[in-house]
Amino acid sequence: MIDQKLADDLKRRARGGDASVLRSAELKSLFDQLKTMPAEQRGPFGKAVNELRQDLTELLAAHQDKAEESTPIDVTAPFDLNATAPQLFASGQGSQHPLMTELATVLDIFYRMGFTAVESRELDDDYHMFGSLNFPEGHPARDDYDTFMTVQTDKKGNQYIAPAHTSTMQNRVLKAGKKGLEAGQAIAAVIPGRVFRNEDLDARHEHTFYQLEGVYVDQGIHAGNLIATLKTFLQEYYGKQLEVKTQPFYFPFTEPSFELVVSCPFCDKAGCHICSQTGWIELLGCGMINPNVLTMAGIDPQIYTGFAWGMGIDRLVMMKYGIEDVRHFESGRLDFLEQFS
Ligand SMILES: [Zn+2]
Repeated sequence: MIDQKLADDLKRRARGGDASVLRSAELKSLFDQLKTMPAEQRGPFGKAVNELRQDLTELLAAHQDKAEESTPIDVTAPFDLNATAPQLFASGQGSQHPLMTELATVLDIFYRMGFTAVESRELDDDYHMFGSLNFPEGHPARDDYDTFMTVQTDKKGNQYIAPAHTSTMQNRVLKAGKKGLEAGQAIAAVIPGRVFRNEDLDARHEHTFYQLEGVYVDQGIHAGNLIATLKTFLQEYYGKQLEVKTQPFYFPFTEPSFELVVSCPFCDKAGCHICSQTGWIELLGCGMINPNVLTMAGIDPQIYTGFAWGMGIDRLVMMKYGIEDVRHFESGRLDFLEQFS
């Protein structure tokens, strides 16, 4: 008789749709055995082998039918109005991230000063990160921005950059506002965005943080307008009168460049741990937009002048709430986040 295990194995293969089973060496060997078999055994064995082959053919056909079978969609079928919905978590189990809440407050203040908001990108190119901001190829100031780059390149073979500042949007904002500017409407935009730096992490440095860029261009704009704008913002945000002063700084995209220093909102210049006992806090970088940056956006620097700043949102919020470590924001720690919900 046919070996039962062999027969079962062949049937299992046929059931699974393996059509090669009909040409298999195992099945062929059964037919070969038939030829050399004593005549009296040949009848029943031959019958059994033929039955097996028949079974395999039928199993394969059944598998094929099943594969082709598909359930037609009944477009007239009624919806089950009582169908179960996904589980709805109580809203108390989640809350807005404090950076987003504070960003909304920051934007609201600038909207009230007539600024519009444009979101920055999380991946940009070399031209917007450096070239359009007056950092020529090989400029040493490029080294101050230790950025992340993609392995993938664009058509010209340049890597994409995870922006290290929201200034990547300046050229776009200036170009977009050029027509309005020439019709007498100042360019006034703030640009919030997430930025990335290849930093050694500590309580004051994080690889991912939020910045708010500001750009203002019109005729007759000078550094006094810059300082007044930032002072108005800071007093509204911290809800108190502040003193501001500037100290010289260097950025390729502003000339002159400043660091804005603000009287400590916590100790009123008496000195505390937030201001390192100095009474003053170096808060942000700013300056008058470099004429080359205006020219690259098609704006005539002989007619128009403007200012720009870049401000760390994380830093502002840390100061407002006395948060001691910037890494809390990205830590996903509920005990931290829940204090703001
Ligand atoms: Zn202080």
